[in-house]
Amino acid sequence: MVVVVYRYGHRIERDKRITTHVALSARAFGADGIVIDREDKKIEENVRKVVDRFGGDFFIESGVGWEKYFKEWKGKIIHLTMYGEKIEDVIDEIRKNKDVLIVVGAEKVPPEFYEIADYNVAIGNQPHSEVASLAIFLHFLNEGEWMKKDFDGVLKILPARKGKNVVYDYAKMLEKEGCSKEVIKHCIKVRNLALEIAKKIKENGVKVDMEAVEAGSLLHDLGRAKTHGIMHIIEGVKIAKKYGLPKKITDIIKHHAGAGIDMEEAIKLGLPAENYNPITIEEMIVSHADNLTGNEYRKIEETAKIFEKKIGREAVKKLISIHEKLSEMAGIDINKIVEKMKD
Ligand code: SAM
Repeated sequence: MVVVVYRYGHRIERDKRITTHVALSARAFGADGIVIDREDKKIEENVRKVVDRFGGDFFIESGVGWEKYFKEWKGKIIHLTMYGEKIEDVIDEIRKNKDVLIVVGAEKVPPEFYEIADYNVAIGNQPHSEVASLAIFLHFLNEGEWMKKDFDGVLKILPARKGKNVVYDYAKMLEKEGCSKEVIKHCIKVRNLALEIAKKIKENGVKVDMEAVEAGSLLHDLGRAKTHGIMHIIEGVKIAKKYGLPKKITDIIKHHAGAGIDMEEAIKLGLPAENYNPITIEEMIVSHADNLTGNEYRKIEETAKIFEKKIGREAVKKLISIHEKLSEMAGIDINKIVEKMKD
């Protein structure tokens, strides 16, 4: 069954919140999409952002007049109104249909709606709200099946008695944003090495945020979904921000290129005038793990040769300095970790 909600009478300024809530409730409780009579790009954008992060393939369209849309609708039209028949008397019959268009109003709906609709359905005969009536109608329509739906999103909320428990599927984020298979494979390899380095450093008594290392290493090349040039670090930060990721992670993305980029160099490269050097321990680990990962893992000597050819002496100095710093913190030459990862 295809279930679409039609929102009538949307007033752009006055109804922006409630129409958004109608759309989000439609999505959460099992509808396939929403159509809004007046054009409102902002609502479209906000709802699509939720779909991007939380998953599913809910659609939203605005600026669609009701007359043509109703005429072309192949299934049944259900108008939710307090003047209608009791939901408990008609829902079994409605459920037998293939496609349903559920109409909810904002302002008073035109009298024709009561005639055009195949069913005028009341959720109790008291006045309340379009959000409440839609949610309860959908619950009856799919007999509570919405509770079992897996939206398969990049972001998932796990039920918690207290606090917030949000988990991200970073590999899915790379895929969804359009990173190639090769980029994803590389990010996973960098993640594996970065976590090994971080583990050794942690075992040696230095505080490391393992979750940030994992997220940052998986996402360091997120911006390659847009470009493989140096601007991929800026693009990566932009995308990560869209998902609401914290600064700690976006800074790992921002500071991962080469062995860091000074402001002077950044200006030459066309980046916004800032320093892009890895500062925190997590940033250094990810940047270095990336440098030690080509198609295969490589030791510092091999990476140094590549840096000398491609970037220059100064970059080699920075690279070796980070290698030594991390090796000291890990209490073991990072080359040894690389060697082990190669096996
Ligand atoms: N004043 C408007 C009218 O007379 O049509 C109703 C406005 S009401 C806040 C907005 C929408 O909520 C209605 O168009 C209807 O879809 C829905 N609604 C409110 N109470 C309802 C009820 N008891 N049963 C079904 N839908 C209801």
